[in-house]
Amino acid sequence: MDLMNKNLLKDTSYVDGEWINANDGSCSEILNPATSESLGFVPNCGSAETIAAIEAARRAQSIWSKTDAKERSSVLKNLHRLMLENQEDLAKIITLEGGKPISESIGEIAYAASFFEWFSEEAKRVYGDVIPAHQHDRRTLVIKQPIGVVGCITPWNFPSAMLARKIAPAIAVGCSVVAKPAPETPFSALALAYLSELAGFPKGLLNILTGDAERIGAVLTENKDIRKITFTGSTSVGKLLLKQSAESVKKVSLELGGHAPFIVFEDADLDAAVDGALIAKYRNSGQTCVCANRIYVQSGIYDAFCERFTEKTSGLVVGNGLEEKTQQGPLISNNAMRKVSLHIDDAKNKGATVATGGNPHNLGGLFFEPTVLTGVTDDMLIAKEETFGPVAPIFSFENEQEVVKRANDTPFGLAAYFYTSDLGKSWRVSEQLDYGMVGLNTGIISTEMAPFGGIKESGIGREGSKYGVDDYLEMKYISIAGIEE
Ligand code: ADP
Repeated sequence: MDLMNKNLLKDTSYVDGEWINANDGSCSEILNPATSESLGFVPNCGSAETIAAIEAARRAQSIWSKTDAKERSSVLKNLHRLMLENQEDLAKIITLEGGKPISESIGEIAYAASFFEWFSEEAKRVYGDVIPAHQHDRRTLVIKQPIGVVGCITPWNFPSAMLARKIAPAIAVGCSVVAKPAPETPFSALALAYLSELAGFPKGLLNILTGDAERIGAVLTENKDIRKITFTGSTSVGKLLLKQSAESVKKVSLELGGHAPFIVFEDADLDAAVDGALIAKYRNSGQTCVCANRIYVQSGIYDAFCERFTEKTSGLVVGNGLEEKTQQGPLISNNAMRKVSLHIDDAKNKGATVATGGNPHNLGGLFFEPTVLTGVTDDMLIAKEETFGPVAPIFSFENEQEVVKRANDTPFGLAAYFYTSDLGKSWRVSEQLDYGMVGLNTGIISTEMAPFGGIKESGIGREGSKYGVDDYLEMKYISIAGIEE
């Protein structure tokens, strides 16, 4: 990798402040999804290395939990600054290993860094309570304490931000972390570990293990010193980790799949809705859990919306994410290509029309054409499953009640979007959508200052905002007796 700061490129795991190889010396190769070229190798760690990392994290946490909030705040602030100082290089790493257009990667680093800034501030606001006593000689207090060592498993689609959203609140309140990044994108995580050392994280506070997901995941969920699991990824793996964590009754946060509806009412600003849908659909080539997956347009504006949306979609520039003009990078894997084709073929067979795209891109490899499907109906696979690719299915609807019912007809409940200029409808629909997050007249909702997370099978817990520390804290009630004159 051609980086300005070569120190950011680490190809070993990070445990107890040491850069380590797997005990058996084995490695996995990491490929650039845009070119299929090798980016290097990282260690294939397993159970023994995970146990060593947990032991280091336990030692570090027992000291860290006794530090004062200002000290914890200060190292997080340092990390925020260091990430921004290295923004270009860190973004390049994301694009090389994940394929994301460089402008989006630059944005991801700013977003990731913002969590270190936000939680450096929140570290000082972990308040308890004094509750009115139930007897006159009593005093009743509540204090909040760090939960302990946190096991953290993250996906490839936001390799820097998903780690930051978990590490920052954990460290802010006095926890330590053992993290396993996605196998596709280890270098972003290892660069973060390197910067955490410069920021002043004591050894063992943050440990990053690359390697065998099942074995590392099994140890993290079974080990009694891990008191919390935080995971972002697929619903199936989330459910597995929840089951595995049951035996030792861990607190679990899950940020899983979504199936976001994007509703456009006839009274909406049509141009704003088209632009919002483009961003909500095609960010990271459709590979985000909050991507618009079902676009519902009211019948009176259906044709006008489809025409404008299709025109803008067909103008998207597909290519290697390192090129400035690229708006759509490659997909992450052959499996992702297969799923996109499956959803398109199924929709076509059941009567949908391909308004643009529909095929692998002539650049070859993992590139796919940004695709619009019109005339989509609820019996199609794409109406039921998350596509995780650049396909926009457009459904038609008649009225508010009907579209809310169809939008909620899914086991998922992460993000939903809708466009309207009617005040009453804005409130009604916001309240009736069974989702953890609602974008009203916007296709972008993520910020470190608001609670990110889902309901139903989309997850448990919230990341970011003043609520983001709760998942890393235990509440303790102290009852003081004998306070008499
Ligand atoms: P995706 O389909 O987006 O890759 P996954 O849920 O498979 O989603 O992956 C998200 C993260 O979960 C990755 O870090 C991956 O290595 C990890 N993972 C996958 N399977 C397991 C497992 N059995 N135990 C623990 N972690 C797992």
